[in-house]
Amino acid sequence: MDKIITVDKQSFMVEYPEKCPLCHHYGDIAVVNGHIRQSNQGVEVLFQCPFQSCKRYFIGYYGVPGQKQLLGLQPQRPELLEFSDTIKTISKDFLLIYEQAESALHAGLDQIAGPGFRKAFEFLIKDYAKHKAPPVASEIEKAFSGQVVSQYIGDPRIQVVAKRALWLGNDESHYLRKWVDHDISDLKTLISLTVHWIEIERLSEKYEKEMKE
Ligand SMILES: [Zn+2]
Repeated sequence: MDKIITVDKQSFMVEYPEKCPLCHHYGDIAVVNGHIRQSNQGVEVLFQCPFQSCKRYFIGYYGVPGQKQLLGLQPQRPELLEFSDTIKTISKDFLLIYEQAESALHAGLDQIAGPGFRKAFEFLIKDYAKHKAPPVASEIEKAFSGQVVSQYIGDPRIQVVAKRALWLGNDESHYLRKWVDHDISDLKTLISLTVHWIEIERLSEKYEKEMKE
């Protein structure tokens, strides 16, 4: 959305934020203040979120006066995926590491975020395998993730997506990329697919147990 703003008595059209970068609600963001940096280096605008429960301030960065493009908003908070109770019970570490990787990605630190997602995924897979086979927990902990997927995850649908998530995860932490056409967003999609398959498997098992034929 473009809008005219006035900064240091100059008015110009800019790309205007439509939602708060902290609470992620869409609304009428207010301009509180702004200034043109020395020697016209850029424009900084102080915005405020209109929602009572938030009301946070954040800064919008623009190029030289007259340049429309919104270059960035700070601070920001990542919009987190809500994971189900099933996943929370299986692996708290997965949730913690995933959230940190998401924060890194949000801050533009994609070189750090990739290995972070990979690590989160390893915790998910190993904790899930341990959950399914508690007597061999210590073997699972020591095994390579690929081995855990092929040996301890029985469901072929989970295996298919989990293997691919591991391949992409390895790409994120190795010097040479093997899957050049795939990136972090594909890795995140594969992680969320694995999460869904795990939920389906857990829920199906629960009903199978509760309602015997
Ligand atoms: Zn807000």
